[in-house]
Amino acid sequence: MSSDHALDTTLQHTGLAPFDARTESAPVAVPVMRTSTVRFRNLDALDRAQAAKADPAQRSITYGRSGMDTHAALESVFCQLESATQALLAPSGMAAISLGLLSLLDTGDHVLVADSAYGPVRYLEKTVLRRLGIQVTFCAASLEDLERHVQPNTRMLYVESPGSLLMQMLDMPALAQFGRRHDLLLVTDNTWGSGYIYRPLELGFDMSIVAGTKYVAGHSDLMLGAVMSAEPALNKRLHDNHYALGFSISADDVWLALRGVRTLPIRMRESAANALKVCEFLAVRPEVTRIYHPAWPQDPGHALWQRDCTGSNGLLSVQLRLTQAQARVFVDALTLFGIGFSWGGFESLVQLVDPGLLRGHSYWPQTEDALVRLHIGLESAQDLCADLAQALDKAARG
Ligand SMILES: *Cc1c(COP(=O)(O)O)cnc(C)c1O
Repeated sequence: MSSDHALDTTLQHTGLAPFDARTESAPVAVPVMRTSTVRFRNLDALDRAQAAKADPAQRSITYGRSGMDTHAALESVFCQLESATQALLAPSGMAAISLGLLSLLDTGDHVLVADSAYGPVRYLEKTVLRRLGIQVTFCAASLEDLERHVQPNTRMLYVESPGSLLMQMLDMPALAQFGRRHDLLLVTDNTWGSGYIYRPLELGFDMSIVAGTKYVAGHSDLMLGAVMSAEPALNKRLHDNHYALGFSISADDVWLALRGVRTLPIRMRESAANALKVCEFLAVRPEVTRIYHPAWPQDPGHALWQRDCTGSNGLLSVQLRLTQAQARVFVDALTLFGIGFSWGGFESLVQLVDPGLLRGHSYWPQTEDALVRLHIGLESAQDLCADLAQALDKAARG
């Protein structure tokens, strides 16, 4: 597909089933190609495939671990989404983060990690990176703080924008400039944008990581991650490490993600529109002290969002003048919001954020207020607001 089409168009025309050479016909969707063994007609064919394997650009398959056509189709979709030349799949978003960090870091390296990044990255640091002698500093992703914490052995800047839990927008082009100045690898978790509404490689980052579990798959029924990059040397290193570490993703899950991603544009737009209606409702409620949602004009990150993003999604957090006990009553009283982690599916979800998780976020005003994260799904916004209203009323009485 030529790149002068809108992304919505390109997305629908990438990763389709190729025509059969004899019948010149094909289904639209690539079938689920399940395999462990890849069979070759003769040894010459196998030798050619082996020789091509050293070049990541050729995607040569000699064994099923890296997947065949179904996987290749989803990889090409991820490349289109992120303006990348290589996408590597991982069995979860967290596995994609591990792949990115373990592929690029060596013992003795130091990494700057934005304190707004996905919480489990701290667990990866504590259990794996520290043991391997990789040093991590969690700090605010402001230029002043980063300058203060950069060391001679700092090799990577790892961020997430907007950040997990509080949707803190980062100035990605400015961070990219800072990174170039200090010769750092620039890595970002782009699950929020999922390549559709935010394109970090175009903003100067080297590598983008997406939990396909969320908006790409879109139906809360599978786990998947992807790592995207566009620099040949980086691609090669990621490709070789991906192979060495043995990641493999079920062809069924890949196929489901491929089916899900076709409707990513409309699902995201609808969730985003619903989320703004929920913001309008919340903004006038007396219990609400602050709404965290970059598309909401009062959010401090709104100007950066307008400059760097082409859309929004259904994720928002709301700071409530409620005790933890009242907040629990509020969450339990909701009938249309499932209580659970994750987001990006068709359905609305609620998470009462553990105050302990917020203490490490420099963006959090460190109040006693409760924080609730909502994922606004595809239900009627009017119904969702009515549900929120009755639950807030119940919490106030409780
Ligand atoms: C969910 C999530 C991940 C991890 O994805 P999994 O597929 O659940 O492992 C990583 N980053 C962000 C921002 C997420 O929201």
